[in-house]
Amino acid sequence: MRRTLAKLQDYFRAPHSFADYEQILRSALDRSYQIFGMESFIALSAPSRCLILRHDIDNDPLAALAFAQIEESLGVKASYFFRLNTWNDDVISRLAANGHEIGYHFEEAATYAKARHIRDKLILLDHYDQIREQFRNNIKDLRARSGLALSAVAAHGDFANKILNLGNRQVIRDPGFRAQCGIAYEAYDEAIVAAYGVHISDGGSLCPYSPLSPQKQIEKGETFLFLSHPRWWKTNPLSSIGSDLRMSCERLVW
Ligand SMILES: [Zn+2]
Repeated sequence: MRRTLAKLQDYFRAPHSFADYEQILRSALDRSYQIFGMESFIALSAPSRCLILRHDIDNDPLAALAFAQIEESLGVKASYFFRLNTWNDDVISRLAANGHEIGYHFEEAATYAKARHIRDKLILLDHYDQIREQFRNNIKDLRARSGLALSAVAAHGDFANKILNLGNRQVIRDPGFRAQCGIAYEAYDEAIVAAYGVHISDGGSLCPYSPLSPQKQIEKGETFLFLSHPRWWKTNPLSSIGSDLRMSCERLVW
């Protein structure tokens, strides 16, 4: 009951605001943090007191521009990962023109499993050649559409991945396949996660941040990555309810 109420409340009033986001960035700058997107962070030889900004645009692509506006007003850049269903040419070209990093938030394994009603991990693994082919075609199309290198990718976490106990990351684990596809890094690559150490993600009103708030981490003065998603910052009931309804339908027909 408490969960349902919190979910309803979050639809009609996002638990965080863009003013909160600006406050986080300002606090970090006041505490002498360097703020980067992922690619710039990876290029550092001796990172210290860094805040890495990553946005996974799971819904509402226009919200990306609101995050970016705040970042640009403070002279910082971030990494934005878009799914196929949030890929918005206009938004992406504006972000790229302003120096933000654009990546592909991929989910081919989950999409394939749902489309073919595969609920067994071992059966799905047998289809990995086809799934990789879809990944290769999708990223090729997105490159052609955007004119961007798209050498960065981040795995989306779908409900199907949890049930299958098989993440989308598995699709690009093979170094040879990565090289063929021109992928420089995946956001959860072990070496990258080890380099930044603390990974803070936003969430709904029941758990606004996990494992701790960015403000608390900033007080410690230590490096961290902050992952944020539009639905927790911008109230957009149509988009959030639409995403959840789509997910419920997918669960039903899977
Ligand atoms: Zn996602």
